[in-house]
Order: sequence, then C-alpha cells, then structure tokens
Amino acid sequence: MLPLPRFAWQAPDTLHGLLDAAARPGARILAGGTDLLPSMKHRLHRPSLLVSARRLPELAAIYEDGDDLCIGAFATLRAVRRHPVVRAELPALADACATVATPTIQAMGTLGGNLCLDTRCAFYNQPEGWRQALGGCLKADGDVCHVARKGAGCYAAHSADTVPVLWLLGARARIAGRRGTREVPVSELYDGADGRRWLRLEPGEVLTHVLVPRRGAPVVHHKVRLRASIDYAALLVAVRREGSGARAVISAVGPAPVEVRAARAEELPDLAHARVKPLGTHVVSTAWRRHMVRVAVRRALDACPVP
Ligand SMILES: Cc1cc2nc3c(=O)[nH]c(=O)nc-3n(C[C@H](O)[C@H](O)[C@H](O)COP(=O)(O)OP(=O)(O)OC[C@H]3O[C@@H](n4cnc5c(N)ncnc54)[C@H](O)[C@@H]3O)c2cc1C
Ligand code: SF4
Repeated sequence: MLPLPRFAWQAPDTLHGLLDAAARPGARILAGGTDLLPSMKHRLHRPSLLVSARRLPELAAIYEDGDDLCIGAFATLRAVRRHPVVRAELPALADACATVATPTIQAMGTLGGNLCLDTRCAFYNQPEGWRQALGGCLKADGDVCHVARKGAGCYAAHSADTVPVLWLLGARARIAGRRGTREVPVSELYDGADGRRWLRLEPGEVLTHVLVPRRGAPVVHHKVRLRASIDYAALLVAVRREGSGARAVISAVGPAPVEVRAARAEELPDLAHARVKPLGTHVVSTAWRRHMVRVAVRRALDACPVP
C-alpha cells in the first residue's frame, strides 16, 4: 500500500474563502481526488493544503443558461453524463464522460478535474521507487527526458477524455481568482509547448464553470484504448462536420490537443495523419498509434451526421 504524504485540508463555505485558500502557497484544489490523490501517493505532487469545494454545492450544479448549458466544474462525470439536456442535445459529451475510467471513478471524478488533468507519460505516472531507478525525468526529480533525449522539453501527453469534445462544441471555461473572473474558450486553456506547463491557469485560479453551447453542429467522440473496461486513451479523437468541411481535435499525442481542419471532409483523415505524430509517452507502439490517427478520424467522420 502506498501511503499519502501529510497535508492539511479545508472546505470553505464561500467562493471568496475558496479562492483565498487556493491562493495560499502550497495549496491545491481537491475535486474528486481520483487523479490527485494517487499522484500524491506516487509523490508526483506534494501539496501542503488541499482545498475542497464540497461546501459549495452551487459549483456542482448543472442548469440551462440561455443558449448554454452551464456545468459547475465540481459536477461529477456521472451527473454530467446522466443530465437530460446532455443526453438529448450533447450526446458526444455524455459519450466522453462515459469513457473515463470506470463508473465508480465517474461517480467521484469531476468535469473540472478532467479539464485540469495532469499530462501523462509512461515514464512519469509511476511510483516513486520506479522513477528513482531510472533517475527521474525532467517532469519529476530528474534532468533528462526518456522520450526525446536530445529535446529540451517534456512531451507528456494531454489525455483528458472530455476535452476534444468540449473544444469542438465551442465550450468556454469560467475561471475565478482573487483578482476577478474571466472566461476563455476551452481551446485556449492548453499550452502545447511543454508537458510541465500545459494548463493556462494562474496560481490560485479555480475553474468554476464550463459553459457549453447547446445547439451547434453535432460532434462525435472516439477513443482508442487497449482495454475497453478501463484505460487511458492511446488516442482521443473528436470530429465535427461543418458544411462540406470538417474539423478534428486529436489528443493523447502531446502536451495539448491538436486541431486539424479540412475544407473537404473526406480529406480530414489524411490531413490528420500528416499533422499528428505521437511520441513514446504511451506503452503502445508509436507507429501503431500514428497509423490509428487516420483510422480513428475516418471512423469518427463516418459516425458524424452531416449537418
Ligand atoms: C484507474 C484510473 C483510470 C483513469 N482513467 C481515465 C481515463 O480513461 N480518462 C480520463 O480522462 N481520466 C482518467 N482518470 C483520471 C481521473 O479519474 C479523471 O480525469 C477525473 O475526471 C479527474 O477529476 P477529479 O475530480 O477526480 O480531479 P482531481 O483528482 O481532484 O484533480 C485533478 C487535478 O485538477 C485540479 N483541479 C481539479 N478541479 C479543479 C478546478 N475546479 N479548478 C482548478 N483546478 C482543479 C487538481 O488540483 C488536480 O491537480 C483515471 C483515473 C484513475 C484512478
Ligand atoms: S516526456 Fe520526458 S520529461 Fe516528460 S514525463 Fe515523459 S520522460 Fe518525463
């Protein structure tokens, strides 16, 4: 059994209190804890204070807000997946929530936690002793990247199932900090330059809501993984047709999802294959994953209704 390191815990009952606590040095937001707590056991993160929103039920509410569905960042993936508006109008989002881990993890894990999920790598998401035997790596406790030894950065892969779908649906993230609130498209939340700094949140900022436009062109979610029962993606694809063209957002291949556009929908699989080059951050063969980019985009496109 891997023990948790020592930490303090707070659950403020006002948003102001939550933001104050989140801004303290060493603090970190605890949502469902399904990624953060195992990572702490692996000594990947060592926060001194975990800040919970469990006394702020309004941050877990899901409600219709004009043309948007407003989803509290602390709503569980299960609540999102089961919401009648999501099922009726945003089925790709329901599909994406349903492919995260298992139903028990979906009952704890939140949509906000999924959007803020750390990047992953086969050399990083390992217990401390495993990593030490290798001398660590750039992302944790070392000074070399085992994926690209001559590179200067980290290529750990963004692997959050709901993000490609939310990106193509045109969703926006509402972010609160002690200096105020801002809204950014989900597509602008991620930075592909380095797997250590993939998320564009300032220290102390908290994702409070995700606003999803309800009536856009349909989107299709397609996840490639080895075990259908539970597995992180070897490849994540979302596709949206627009007139005679189409767009794909492809993830699990680098620090941020990659968007590919085609003026003619039938060109999208080849364009995606030319653009997306997965690296050795996953246990699955890189050549196979590259091959599957074209296959997965074609499958998603075939399943996507013409608007
Ligand atoms: C066995 C297993 C399998 C898994 N498989 C998958 C999978 O297939 N696909 C997938 O996408 N995920 C998977 N996960 C990861 C995880 O369960 C999900 O990504 C989940 O949605 C994370 O949400 P959470 O609420 O548990 O986040 P937490 O673990 O609580 O937090 C994750 C990170 O986000 C930060 N954070 C959380 N909420 C906010 C917020 N509102 N504002 C700012 N920062 C915040 C936390 O500080 C932390 O750094 C798996 C996990 C396990 C244990
Ligand atoms: S890509 Fe390189 S630096 Fe980043 S986690 Fe993997 S081995 Fe470490």
